[in-house]
Amino acid sequence: MTQTKTSETKLPSHAQAVVIGGGVIGCSILYHLAKLGWTDAVLLERSELTSGSTWHAAANIHGLHDSSNISRMQHYTMSLYKELEAETGQSCGVFQPGSLYLAQTEAREQQLRLQEAKARRYGMNFHEVSRDEAERLHPLVDFDGVRCIMFEPDGGNVDPSGVTNAYAVGARQYGAAIHRFTPVTGTEPQPDGSWIVRTDAGDIRTPWVINAAGLWAREVGALAGLELPLLPTEHQYFVTETIDAIAAMDRRLPSVADRDGEYYLRQEGQGLLVGAYEKDVRFWAEQGTPQGFGHELFPDDLERIEDNMMRAIARVPALETSGIKRVINGPMIWSPDSSLLLGPVPEKPGYFCACGMIPGFSQSGGVGKLAAEWMVEGEPTLDLFAWDVARFGSWAGKGFTKARVADQYANRFKIHFPGEEREAGRPVRARPVHAMQKELGATFGLNYGWEHPLYFDADTPDSAGFTRQPWWDSVGREARMLRQNAGIIDISNFAKYEVAGPGAEDWLNAVFANRMPRLPGRSCLTPLIGRRGGIAGDFTVTRLDEETFIVIGSGMAERYHQGFFREVPLPEGTRFESKTEQMAGFNVAGPQARSILQRLTNADLSNAAFPFFRSQRITVAGVSCTALRVSFTGDLGWEVHCDVSDQMTLYSALLEAGRDVGAGPVGSRALMSLRVEKGYGSWGRDYSPEWWPQESGLDGLIRADKDFLNKDAWLTVRDQPAREVMTLIEIDATTADATGGEPVFLPDGTPIGQVTSGAFGYHVEKSLAIAYLRPDCVTPGQAVEVAVLGKAHQAKVLGDPPLDPEGTRLRG
Ligand SMILES: Cc1cc2nc3c(=O)[nH]c(=O)nc-3n(C[C@H](O)[C@H](O)[C@H](O)COP(=O)(O)OP(=O)(O)OC[C@H]3O[C@@H](n4cnc5c(N)ncnc54)[C@H](O)[C@@H]3O)c2cc1C
Repeated sequence: MTQTKTSETKLPSHAQAVVIGGGVIGCSILYHLAKLGWTDAVLLERSELTSGSTWHAAANIHGLHDSSNISRMQHYTMSLYKELEAETGQSCGVFQPGSLYLAQTEAREQQLRLQEAKARRYGMNFHEVSRDEAERLHPLVDFDGVRCIMFEPDGGNVDPSGVTNAYAVGARQYGAAIHRFTPVTGTEPQPDGSWIVRTDAGDIRTPWVINAAGLWAREVGALAGLELPLLPTEHQYFVTETIDAIAAMDRRLPSVADRDGEYYLRQEGQGLLVGAYEKDVRFWAEQGTPQGFGHELFPDDLERIEDNMMRAIARVPALETSGIKRVINGPMIWSPDSSLLLGPVPEKPGYFCACGMIPGFSQSGGVGKLAAEWMVEGEPTLDLFAWDVARFGSWAGKGFTKARVADQYANRFKIHFPGEEREAGRPVRARPVHAMQKELGATFGLNYGWEHPLYFDADTPDSAGFTRQPWWDSVGREARMLRQNAGIIDISNFAKYEVAGPGAEDWLNAVFANRMPRLPGRSCLTPLIGRRGGIAGDFTVTRLDEETFIVIGSGMAERYHQGFFREVPLPEGTRFESKTEQMAGFNVAGPQARSILQRLTNADLSNAAFPFFRSQRITVAGVSCTALRVSFTGDLGWEVHCDVSDQMTLYSALLEAGRDVGAGPVGSRALMSLRVEKGYGSWGRDYSPEWWPQESGLDGLIRADKDFLNKDAWLTVRDQPAREVMTLIEIDATTADATGGEPVFLPDGTPIGQVTSGAFGYHVEKSLAIAYLRPDCVTPGQAVEVAVLGKAHQAKVLGDPPLDPEGTRLRG
């Protein structure tokens, strides 16, 4: 297709936001921006609206997802379409005959039951039906071999063009403008912080550029110097001729989500539509999406999806004899984890991404709403780190992206278990001790691109499931060893920053909510406050000397946090530098931690000379280290950080000294168990911008008598009553532990909150979870039920952490 038309009306010279791309996502963002008050927002589309992936989508809609926040967004989207029709008079072509979800395996059943429990928590419509009921709902399906069936009455499909146009009409009604046939040719940041968006029809100056260019998101990103980790693939579905049994029905059939069969199926006209994510993925336009590509499709290649088709035929025998009327083989564009790249780009203030959308019709409304909140109000109302464009750094290059996209596509419908590690595209970032850890039997996980040990047991390969896996015992051995003797944990993937210069203390005080340590050798814990007053991060800040501080925070959030740090200008002569790559670190923890370190250093490690929460520069095994007397395990311990070039020397020495006292390497799965035993929260799980400090128990770390980033936002929430509070619970569980996301109910079935972290406490021999619960339900001993595996498990609220509530081990 070529662009034969030009922009219909004159472009404005200014706009509050310029959305690039008139697919379903761009139009939804424009609609929601205008609805939130940015009525002079503009959308530029190089051709007709829907000219990317949007026009040919099967446009199925689903409400439930493994992630609670994504379910909430999808739920919003599904209810929006009818409202949008009423508001705009534009049909969205909504059919909601319901969706049937089939489980053929035990794990799939557990997944569906967990989703059903979440639906109960959020008041969403999703419930189990009997086989008889399912046969009545969909007489064409053979339910043999299906062990559990859920029904979502609001499931169905929409008309992709109808939805996109309804957003467009709605946006225009609020005053926003859409210019079709207006390709964007440049996006240039200006010294005053604004952007110039260039087109052949003129330029627009704007504070916000939104890249919603779908299949062309890479090319549009490149106009601003961005290399986005995205890659398109082909994707096929076919539509059958009329099936008599369907033609004879006086109602529409529900769609069928038979994910174990790896296809999707729904009624289309008087036939069926079947789509598949096949194993043999075909990439498209690897070197770049052609500018002239438009309403084109690829040649049919049904052979490629034959296996999936055969499974669909076995389930719906009517498919076998029906002719195929139409095949759609079109492109869609993927990120390395198949989730959206959403949010402001930290290095490019005023540049917002909404790219790499796969289930655009299940999610368009939620994405538009949250994107608009993010720009207009500073932050979305839901924690969206799982979608944040900042979760990938420059380490997610072309090779990694290609390998991951192939894996994501081929396993689209596989169950993605909590804590699952996927091998594709690795390793991308490894530190010098990687090979040595491998020799020690390590199984590795991926954290912001870094390989890091999960546990050490060469005889027990990694596996994933909702229930306890074989490595559960290996992890238990490490956790017990640390509590009994000691353990050495590689903590190199924590993010580390150095702030140095005469203005370092002032700058840190202006960023963080706690007061920075005044004396060298002192440390403080501090929250970073988000733009809605919640917890955007938690850090340990240590004053090394008069003008030098070291800041330690979440490794996976390094790029995300840069967006906050950049908001506070550095004083003249003061330097901020990421040391994450340059520094490595180990946590030596457990009752014998002092004895291990003392063998390797002349520094006095006694309580009197090196008390809890202090730091010193010491030499360990001849390696110059910054040592902090802290440990996320809740035990006596030191973090020792060194230059990465000394990592091998330090690790070897620590392991050797450890051997003498029965200590060895410990991985991050044991660390999870150890910190939950102590009730310590972790950012990204238990702390997030969605939670206020008084809900997370971090309010005591905020100093109201000084200014800090987003203090005004905090002041607006400070005195509000907590909605839910972070609480430790003990679960009566024997085959599976909570992992995060499980809803919590009172024994009468009233929902009161949700688990954020869970683990078995091997030392205290209890299955534990950190949960956010309604404040009136957190009296110690309160009986609750947790939906582990989607089934009610008895549990009780704990008043104190089961490990060392007085902190004597830490201070020992
Ligand atoms: C075969 C198939 C079946 C699918 N089935 C489903 C389904 O059942 N359910 C579901 O939810 N999703 C489905 N999808 C996915 C869905 O189509 C996408 O998630 C969605 O369309 C993505 O929309 P978008 O707005 O992000 O991108 P796009 O639709 O690609 O839109 C991007 C727009 O940006 C414009 N643009 C590009 N460059 C410029 C520029 N320089 N200047 C101005 N404008 C520009 C393009 O012309 C285009 O209109 C399917 C996709 C395929 C391929």
